[in-house]
Amino acid sequence: MKAAVVDALGTGFALRDVDIAEPTGHEVMVEVKAAGLCHTDLTVATHAFADFPPPVVLGHEMAGVVAAVGPEASAFTVGDHVVGCLVQWCGDCPACLDGRVYRCDRPEATLRDPGREAPRLSRAGSPVTQGMGLGAFAQRALVHENQLTAVPRRLPFAPAALLGCGVLTGAGSVLNGARVGAGETVAVIGAGGVGLNSVSAARIAGASRIVAVDVQDGKLRRARAFGATDVVNSATTDAVTAVRELTGGGVQHAFDVVGTAATTDQALRMTALGGAVYVVGLAGSGGDLKLSLPRLLLQQKRIQGLIMGSGNPRRDIPRYADLYLRGHMNLDDLVSRQIALDGIDAGYAALRDPDVARVVITSF
Ligand SMILES: [Zn+2]
Ligand SMILES: [Zn+2]
Repeated sequence: MKAAVVDALGTGFALRDVDIAEPTGHEVMVEVKAAGLCHTDLTVATHAFADFPPPVVLGHEMAGVVAAVGPEASAFTVGDHVVGCLVQWCGDCPACLDGRVYRCDRPEATLRDPGREAPRLSRAGSPVTQGMGLGAFAQRALVHENQLTAVPRRLPFAPAALLGCGVLTGAGSVLNGARVGAGETVAVIGAGGVGLNSVSAARIAGASRIVAVDVQDGKLRRARAFGATDVVNSATTDAVTAVRELTGGGVQHAFDVVGTAATTDQALRMTALGGAVYVVGLAGSGGDLKLSLPRLLLQQKRIQGLIMGSGNPRRDIPRYADLYLRGHMNLDDLVSRQIALDGIDAGYAALRDPDVARVVITSF
């Protein structure tokens, strides 16, 4: 099959012929119909990560159709429409049994054992790394069934692909992590492919004020289409002062989707007494936050890191699909551009344009 392979760090994505194994055990073969370009894949393609040595097939925002199932896979049948998710969960550990699959003790249970089993992907007999158990930048993907969720057939593939990462993370942070309530006030720092979904979810939760903060006016304009009641350009305005003025003293929930010490500090200062800050994104290594303990204590603030929107894909992805199909969740405006599998490098370059939210491969 054709796959976009990162042959070496920083060399981009090249179309190659890659061999894909037949499904065994709990594996499912998916014919990929859409794959989103998430920034994390570009980071993995340009920086050394021990888990994903090149050559590697990346791509973890995936929607497709089940083409074959392994003998022990019970959740799907051929023809099902599915969405992939990078959350790897065993189903048996205490965290999984509690529904908190994003804290699974044994995520490797979803992968082949390199010492015992042949790799899922190979070229000329040599293993090719599969990114995050998915490897969606390819015509087909061989995936453990726990990394897949069934979605309605009438859900279009391009927005469906985004459900497993950007939507799960952005919306889940608001609905699962923060549990924003009706009438509460929210600030979202970073109005990109994740933050826009936090804005959407805050609107769905009934937040009375939703302030989007970004450094680019194009992104802020788009945030309004997702439900932001107010926007602040932090490149030209003091965001902390602006948010405190707009909300009469600060918000109850501030989401740092950018993930730098500077933006988390902003988030802390724009929350009201008793407010909470959630670190949802991580820009590079993030950096260290300097925290005033007296201020933390006297202002009764909370700060929490949230992974993958504290999401349970099998519960949350169908919920978001339903919200979209009923017209309550804006996914269409996330899909700015649809490209072919051989256009990934240009697609990532296009993402630097603030008018482009997400680029999705829909031609394989
Ligand atoms: Zn992602
Ligand atoms: Zn587990």
